[in-house]
Amino acid sequence: MTEAAKPIPSKNVTMVILAEHHAPLRAFLETVHEQVRELVCVLGLPKDFFVVHKRWHKTFLGLEVVLDRGRLIGAWFLQNNQECREIRPRELIKILDIFARARGKPLLKVRFGGFRRSWCYCEGELKNGFRCATSDGEFHAFGRTAYQGSAYGSSDGPLIITGWPVAAEENQFTRDLYRFRLACENASYLDKYHAKTRPFDRDDDAYIRLGTLGPYPDYVIDIFVDKLRGWLSAHEPKILEFNLEDLWIVHYERPSLETNQSEKRVVEIIAKPEMLDDLYEEWRAGQAR
Ligand SMILES: [Zn+2]
Repeated sequence: MTEAAKPIPSKNVTMVILAEHHAPLRAFLETVHEQVRELVCVLGLPKDFFVVHKRWHKTFLGLEVVLDRGRLIGAWFLQNNQECREIRPRELIKILDIFARARGKPLLKVRFGGFRRSWCYCEGELKNGFRCATSDGEFHAFGRTAYQGSAYGSSDGPLIITGWPVAAEENQFTRDLYRFRLACENASYLDKYHAKTRPFDRDDDAYIRLGTLGPYPDYVIDIFVDKLRGWLSAHEPKILEFNLEDLWIVHYERPSLETNQSEKRVVEIIAKPEMLDDLYEEWRAGQAR
């Protein structure tokens, strides 16, 4: 097996905001979930059309690793770019600390919803940058306008709700998450959605998996998703604030985070960096079993 083909263990490490510890995020997601249930009912869809996620979380940065000859290698650098880079958890902590000190409070303001109905048709060079040349959308990313990205899903796959960092003005998109994720490359953590082969993809998404859609035809999924986008679009933008205190690094058993080996607050890790070394050692011990 080549290094690039090394599978990423399903038990791994990530940095998230847990909705159960952030009342405004939980309240917002409960409102969206209520709307989802109502749409399922109004559209006459079966009850199993949508299965809600038990533990809502917003991924800040995946910290997944693979073990290579005793070294901990950044999983996404290996998988996306075929680069074998040893992770530097202490450097990651420094980057987090500098980011937090530079930003102050709030660490991030994230806008959900209230986006103009628009569809991106950009191809080739038009995909460069955040400006969408083929729509009047606020911006585009991953071939989607903000409207398209605000809610999207696939048959037998996740239903995702996305927001983006803004400054004081709700229409001033700061790209702060994207810049933070780029900075973390210095610690050998590559964003899961960044790859040398896809230079146009710039991950600035504050995405949350609300749940899972059933195995229904694409046209049914499309109708449902567009209704949900329309509902989000028709509302005032929802701005949520997040702070360093809201960030957790978790050693998970499943990506759903329903059962975790460990959950550590980032503020505590910054005060005591060896906590992150210990968490990775715990992960390594679990791999050896
Ligand atoms: Zn576009």
